[in-house]
Amino acid sequence: MTAPTADLLFTDGPVYDPGQPAPRPDAVAVRGGVIVARGEAARQLAGPRTRRVDLRGRLLIPGFQDAHVHAVFGGLELGQCDLTALTDPAALLDRIAAYAAENPRAAWITGAGWSLESFPGGLPTAAQLDRAVPDRPALLHNRDHHGAWANSRALELAGITAATPDPADGRIERDARGEPTGMLQEGAVGLVARLLPELRRADLDAALLRAQRLLHSLGITAWQDALVGRAQGMADNYAVYRDAAAAGTLTARVRGALWWDRGRGREQIAELEARRAAGRIGRFEPGTVKIMQDGIIENRTAALIDPYLNPAAAACGCRDGATASADRGLSFVDPDLLPGYVTELDRLGFQVHFHALGDRAVREALDAVEAARAANGESAQRHHLAHLQVVHPDDVPRFKRLGAVANIQPLWAAHEPQLDELAIPVLGPERTARQYPFGDLLRSGAALAAGSDWPVSSADPIAGIHVAVNRSLPGRDGEPFLPGQRLTLAEAVTAYTAGSAWANHLDDTGSLRVGAHADLAVLDRDPFAAPATEIHAARVEAAFVGGEEVWSG
Ligand SMILES: [Zn+2]
Repeated sequence: MTAPTADLLFTDGPVYDPGQPAPRPDAVAVRGGVIVARGEAARQLAGPRTRRVDLRGRLLIPGFQDAHVHAVFGGLELGQCDLTALTDPAALLDRIAAYAAENPRAAWITGAGWSLESFPGGLPTAAQLDRAVPDRPALLHNRDHHGAWANSRALELAGITAATPDPADGRIERDARGEPTGMLQEGAVGLVARLLPELRRADLDAALLRAQRLLHSLGITAWQDALVGRAQGMADNYAVYRDAAAAGTLTARVRGALWWDRGRGREQIAELEARRAAGRIGRFEPGTVKIMQDGIIENRTAALIDPYLNPAAAACGCRDGATASADRGLSFVDPDLLPGYVTELDRLGFQVHFHALGDRAVREALDAVEAARAANGESAQRHHLAHLQVVHPDDVPRFKRLGAVANIQPLWAAHEPQLDELAIPVLGPERTARQYPFGDLLRSGAALAAGSDWPVSSADPIAGIHVAVNRSLPGRDGEPFLPGQRLTLAEAVTAYTAGSAWANHLDDTGSLRVGAHADLAVLDRDPFAAPATEIHAARVEAAFVGGEEVWSG
């Protein structure tokens, strides 16, 4: 009896194993959805029904895994007024007006993707938006989704006036007389968003499949959805994943991070447990809880250890009452309660995924993980902190010590107007030099995972890897941003494959070892063989999950 032959055989080209310094020529054989042999042993499994993939001029890697993405919301936005490609205010308003004209029956005009840098202080006005959408309410999230731009009709329907107080977790931007100007930050967005027409379930199902197609086309074979549940007036995407997993239409492996409602406390944990138990189906595993501990620097909702500088206060007139020296941003979950919550979640076997962007949020999250480790010992839970824009040097070595994963969004670590004009001036030079310290974290021994935060920024892992290596955006080879924090190409690809697989608790993926799932991506070239400035040019030719081709370009 002869040995069964391979279903799929990759030969004659470079193969990259995460953790290695560079690819080497090799062969990889796949049978029954798993990698069954490498090298000469793989080549011997060629048979008449084996599909052969010639790797000459290409590169085989494990599929990318995005450790922080909002796939369903990204998929929804692909179908709404998409402003991501535009920066000029007049062009933005033209696009919005055109979208409104194309959708005469839409009760609301919704969309996202405009950039803060398009408007002075990141603050467009309702009056501007009224000119594009005079007849209906409109609500347009900015690119980072930490704020939204409303027109006068939307403010009116929400009853937002000079007399409306700011919610505890957000801010209504106002003019000198206290009148709302049309820009809503963080939790204030919910005052309008809760009025949006309920999305139909079919819209959400379609959004997931649209997103999955895009993510597979970028070589992504697994991801962690960083917000599963209902937050701030957004649609609940939990059943969308659960049902897609049950139906087999979910081809990606997805770790779901169940949303921690910061308006409630411990009493929600039983609900989270019930959701985890009922949602663990097929390729969906909602075994994570997402705790959003702060906001972002640009609107001063990120939690900082030392106060924000406030050079623009006079110009934007938006900080009535608050003095610069008092403003350290927001902790969305009470830092005195956070360690207790995390300890309990850890004890119950939940992984905790923190949004921790400012240095105080990072410290509060690490303190909470430390409390959990002290109370429960070394649990198997790979708690992780995403975003890490500013990390205090004292906290860098704590990641390794606590077994906390650094979940990086590398695309953000480059000079671009939002960083240069809105973040750096309020951070000042010392904290500016502590931004996105990927190199320091890696050298300290921290495990790195990587993700995009799409639709906040592009979902393309190759673009993220390009920035992690160059610390400048593709095609904009200006001065690198903190070049001492660069990763090598090998380190960046490892973070985006094996590192994210670790954070996703998908231990049979992120690797090309014999026995691993055949979750793979084929690139159209070998970026290791070209200058670093050309990394971004690589494209994904094919992606496989469990040996099944899910994308071919
Ligand atoms: Zn996010």
